Amino acid sequence: MAGYVARALERIEERNPHEPEFQQAVREAYTSIEPVLDERPHYEEARILERLAEPERVIVFRVPWVDDSAAVQVNRGYRVQMNSAIGPYKGGLRFHPSVYLGLLKFLAFEQVLKNSLTTLPMGGAKGGSDFDPKGRSNSEVRRFCQSFMTGLWRHIGQFTDIPAGDIGVGSREIGYLFGQYKRLTNEFSGAITGKGFGWGGSLVRPEATGYGAVYFAEEMLRTRSESIEKKRCLVSGSGNVAQYTVEKLIDLGAVPLTMSDSSGFVHDPDGIDREKLAFVLDLKNRRRGRIAEYAERYRSATYTPAGRTDSNPLWAIPADLAFPSATQNELDGKDAAHLVGNGILAVTEGANMPTTADGVHLLRTAGVLFGPGKAANAGGVTVSGLEMVQDSVRRQWSRERVDEELRAVMAEIHSNVRATAERYGRPGDYVAGANIAGFKKVADAMLDEAVL
Ligand code: NDP
Repeated sequence: MAGYVARALERIEERNPHEPEFQQAVREAYTSIEPVLDERPHYEEARILERLAEPERVIVFRVPWVDDSAAVQVNRGYRVQMNSAIGPYKGGLRFHPSVYLGLLKFLAFEQVLKNSLTTLPMGGAKGGSDFDPKGRSNSEVRRFCQSFMTGLWRHIGQFTDIPAGDIGVGSREIGYLFGQYKRLTNEFSGAITGKGFGWGGSLVRPEATGYGAVYFAEEMLRTRSESIEKKRCLVSGSGNVAQYTVEKLIDLGAVPLTMSDSSGFVHDPDGIDREKLAFVLDLKNRRRGRIAEYAERYRSATYTPAGRTDSNPLWAIPADLAFPSATQNELDGKDAAHLVGNGILAVTEGANMPTTADGVHLLRTAGVLFGPGKAANAGGVTVSGLEMVQDSVRRQWSRERVDEELRAVMAEIHSNVRATAERYGRPGDYVAGANIAGFKKVADAMLDEAVL
């Protein structure tokens, strides 16, 4: 690495200390776009790399609320409005104790490039809070969401910034957030996506990220004349993305073997079928229990608690495909070595940056098909974009129409990413292809709009 990228990274890392995930995401993206910078020296004059890594605006606010024992609790709320060069800010909200500014800057940065790939006009943002919904009653979650929105509402809107869900923010939380937004603004508009179908949402939005990841995997496999049918699959996570990844894998005749949560994972050598998946959906979405219960219910499965070893034994199970769909940096170099040793064909990132830099390097060097999250998990924000279209024309489309559009966009992202990688001398490198294609569109819009 030399030249502008090295200089920009040094400055960015100096300006953003103590934010390792943000530095990791920027480094990964910028090192892979070097060929474009060599071709277009005017990007340096315009200091595009430095501008792209600096949020347009960051909002930090207090979120006070009262818990069930009448004690006052104080959390911190954030919205990182990263880039609006190609459209209004768009990106999810995450409620998790690990949330801090650096984590949201990483997610917002990824979101800018991802949204650019979707073919829809959306800028990038991310927000959330260090609130931990685990163990909280429904009333506590409702009071928290209402207070959070009371701090956020004036900074968002259908033409400004349109939040959605992410870790810890599912359909229940979106309902509470939207209700409070509507109450404060006195207006029913599409300022949030992931809404229920009965009140302005889109069909297939809950399924979109997981389905989209599987569609992307299908496209990658097709380049090697392979199909998804009968493939043994490792899936991590048991939240929104993992659930619908497993559902689509079952639909297509594959055999999902695992699911996990932050306490551990289950391995079911007989495969997770529709009935078992329905059990997981009820367990996670209604009863809000732990994945360990799966192994109590289904004797074919074994449960392994998390944190016993320094690598994750889920990735050491022999399989054909892997879908890391829980959280960032959950698959490292050692895990990647296990996958490669077992002859894995493809790794498709359902989560954002679940694979560490050394993990990606190892998989890529071994010739494994590797679909980076900013391309492979773009299905969620794509259908959010379609929800915005439906909101603005006040019509709702059929399930078939939305699913067809989702499938078409995932295929388009795949071919764009693949062609871009090829054009810049990196055939088969989906990381470079996604970063370059996402970056060029945003960078050129920034140049057209002057120094903003
Ligand atoms: P959910 O909250 O629905 O599920 C998250 C899952 O990951 C849960 O099983 C959770 O376990 C597990 N998890 C969370 N944090 C950790 C951790 N630190 N260590 C181990 N396991 C963890 O979130 P989503 O499914 O929506 O999101 C999953 C990933 O996909 C995230 O990276 C998100 O950014 C990304 N993504 C989501 C999109 C969406 O549309 N929802 C769109 C694009 C990307 P537990 O219940 O124990 O916390």
